Amino acid sequence: MDFIKKSMQKIEVKDENSGKMREAENGWMNAKKSIDDAVYELGKAYYEANKNNPTAEFAEQIKNVNNRIKGEYIWHQYRLSLDGRRLCDKCNSFITSDSAFCNRCGATVTPIDFSSILGTTNHMQPTNNFNQGTGCPKCGKKLVEGAKFCEVCGTKIVS
Ligand SMILES: [Zn+2]
Ligand SMILES: [Zn+2]
Repeated sequence: MDFIKKSMQKIEVKDENSGKMREAENGWMNAKKSIDDAVYELGKAYYEANKNNPTAEFAEQIKNVNNRIKGEYIWHQYRLSLDGRRLCDKCNSFITSDSAFCNRCGATVTPIDFSSILGTTNHMQPTNNFNQGTGCPKCGKKLVEGAKFCEVCGTKIVS
């Protein structure tokens, strides 16, 4: 009986300790993570302040981040293109992927080269598809709902 009592005491002490250990470990991990977060914020602030400054002290790292952002942009647009969509580079609206002009802001839409991620040249070319109905007073392309510009010829739509 004494043995059992002793070992139970031991377990109680151990449990109390493991609770403290968990608490200490959580405290330590959170403290560690808070350093990472703070360093991340510092790096982000430095990057934002110097992203267009090639003579900045960490120009190489900035270039590296810029390249990754470019890569993320291409992957994002590639994903959207699989749904027949893309983002306008100027106004960030969703537009059809084969637009020659943004139907929202009228900006010329530059085809995206996906070769860097797909390994082959795969330009998204405007198709100038004229037989989808009527709408644009100049080229006849059917206009998407709320279009302010024709996505084929860029004509401003007055409603
Ligand atoms: Zn636009
Ligand atoms: Zn048109």
